[in-house]
Amino acid sequence: METIFSYCLTEPGSGSDAAALRTRADRTNEGWRLNGTKAFISGGGYSDAYIAMVRTGTSGPRGISAVIVENGSSGLSFGSLEDKMGWRAQPTTQVQFDDCLVPADNLLGEEGRGFAYAMAGLDGGRLNISAGALGGAQAALDATMAYMGQRTAFGQSLDRFQALQFRLAEMETALQSARIFLRQAAWKLDQQAPDATKFCAMAKLLVTDRAFEVANQCLQLHGGYGYLADYGIEKIVRDLRVHQILEGTNEIMRLIVSRAMLAERG
Ligand SMILES: Cc1cc2nc3c(=O)[nH]c(=O)nc-3n(C[C@H](O)[C@H](O)[C@H](O)COP(=O)(O)OP(=O)(O)OC[C@H]3O[C@@H](n4cnc5c(N)ncnc54)[C@H](O)[C@@H]3O)c2cc1C
Repeated sequence: METIFSYCLTEPGSGSDAAALRTRADRTNEGWRLNGTKAFISGGGYSDAYIAMVRTGTSGPRGISAVIVENGSSGLSFGSLEDKMGWRAQPTTQVQFDDCLVPADNLLGEEGRGFAYAMAGLDGGRLNISAGALGGAQAALDATMAYMGQRTAFGQSLDRFQALQFRLAEMETALQSARIFLRQAAWKLDQQAPDATKFCAMAKLLVTDRAFEVANQCLQLHGGYGYLADYGIEKIVRDLRVHQILEGTNEIMRLIVSRAMLAERG
């Protein structure tokens, strides 16, 4: 972790349909000249280097290559920090290439394989996003357990109401089952199982949706105090919301899973 890279795929005009990206890299005598804009880049302005998926050939995924753009390169600049609902501890900016010059050696792997590399990286990324969501939700549940033992209403602590105990049981079941499913997907990826991509997508869909629901329930169980910044629960809810959107939205996860099912059926 000595060198921090940003992953630059999304553009203002293409997110889910990432293969429609338009940032171009044209050959020069010394390497490549980049022109275009990347959007929503995590670490924008802070990273040591940027792995940019750029168009070096015709339209579609096979015309895309991956290049490394080091910080300080001429023609590399950044938009202002995005003002986000959550993930506010982490910078997100646009990354701009204006006749940005990159040496030939900075081409990653083979020309025309950039989209395949970008997609391969997303399997592990989706596990990572899911694990983060799970951790956030578990922290919210732990805090809620403690809070419900202290807070009283109608002469007893909140954790004495059976309706609320049942919610605790449901949340515990949701998180434990999500954890097992996530570990299975991670194991599949480690084993390079043929259905690893499908399992990573299923895990991302299931874990991030459940984690958000649990965090939101935890906020509810804190009553009005859950809505105050002091208790930290509203921050978890705001932070986990984006896990359903980035690293491929949860609609795109459904697309990946259903495509794999139909391909398996033949
Ligand atoms: C905080 C944050 C950090 C990010 N970090 C990075 C980063 O570091 N690098 C990077 O490259 N990107 C990053 N992203 C971008 C993120 O991956 C995209 O926002 C995401 O892929 C969705 O793209 P979009 O915003 O263009 O939405 P769109 O693609 O415009 O989608 C809009 C809506 O339409 C739905 N939709 C689109 N196509 C379909 C379809 N075929 N079927 C059904 N529904 C569909 C989507 O699910 C969504 O609900 C980040 C985003 C955020 C918010």
